[in-house]
Amino acid sequence: MAQFDIRSLPKISLHDHLDGGLRPQTIIELAAEIGYELPADNAKDLKRWFEKSADSGNLVDYLKTFDVTTAVMQTKEGLTRVAREFVLDLANDGVIYGEIRWAPEQHLTRGLTLDETVDAVQDGLEQGIEIVEAQGGFIRTGQLVTAMRHADRALEIAELAVRHRNDGVVGFDIAGAEKGFLPNRHKLAFDYLASELFPVTVHAGEADGIESIKDAIVSGRALRLGHGVRLIEDIMFSRTEGETDVVVLGPVAEWVHDRGIALETSPSSNLQTGAISMLGDKMTDHPIDVLYDLGFKVTVNTDNRLMSGTSLTRELELLVDAFGYNLGDLELFQINAAEAAFQAIEDREELIEMITEGFDQAGR
Ligand SMILES: [Zn+2]
Repeated sequence: MAQFDIRSLPKISLHDHLDGGLRPQTIIELAAEIGYELPADNAKDLKRWFEKSADSGNLVDYLKTFDVTTAVMQTKEGLTRVAREFVLDLANDGVIYGEIRWAPEQHLTRGLTLDETVDAVQDGLEQGIEIVEAQGGFIRTGQLVTAMRHADRALEIAELAVRHRNDGVVGFDIAGAEKGFLPNRHKLAFDYLASELFPVTVHAGEADGIESIKDAIVSGRALRLGHGVRLIEDIMFSRTEGETDVVVLGPVAEWVHDRGIALETSPSSNLQTGAISMLGDKMTDHPIDVLYDLGFKVTVNTDNRLMSGTSLTRELELLVDAFGYNLGDLELFQINAAEAAFQAIEDREELIEMITEGFDQAGR
């Protein structure tokens, strides 16, 4: 176990799904209000159901658990409450800046418009920030508006994101089944976002390989990669007896490395969805350590705290246990994330200052 208290350290969370971070008790209460039947009737069993279902080893089964969470997030009240509690839970975990992603198109079954859903989530985030500040804490948030890659609404969702750019939305993402749904399928949306100079991150290199990552950069103009762990497939390692390892980066890996494109890795989730199954099934098999050693801009994230039964603190603890990271390593992950945040440069600098101060204090 780590020799330092990771929870109290200032942290940045860039990849955290709103519909993957609900409190089990909240799901139960919201489900009762709308008469939705759940797979368990108490918070403890429900929590266990999510974790067990998510541990299936493939992304498609993992994604099924979201049918339950999105079902209770179809009203203004539901969305606002979930967003508010999300912020409180992040702050409680020591997160000072969180980007929260979610797909408005999945929250329209009870009559809300796309714009109403974004406003409802923003209300919740702001209520959460207010509560944290009233308690003497600090947290900032940004919404990442996501389009589902198997659907055909990406342009509409991109326009929604841009419409709310001065009202809490800081970026755009595509999520859902990666394999078979390349970013170029949504070329019109990405061209529009580029014309609006609007920041984009793309889930890539999780359930598909190098071509998907390359297309996220080429068609998506992604400034960050959602997970990106399968970038390891574009890196050649050759070992000769008695010699140092020779590492050769393929063209995509080299581009991501040299441009400093941040990787939003999510260790537990990557193990659960089979993203790194070609390497093994233990945390020590995760390529994050190799990528970090090679100088990639690695960040650490939770992806879905409910499904993985985790927090950013826990993800960092797991990495400390697996790879022996010290305070300096963990600080660098946070600085990488702050630098890659979809915020103005002065706001990123403020976050970096807070991180440096917090880690300095912990190191004394
Ligand atoms: Zn994700």
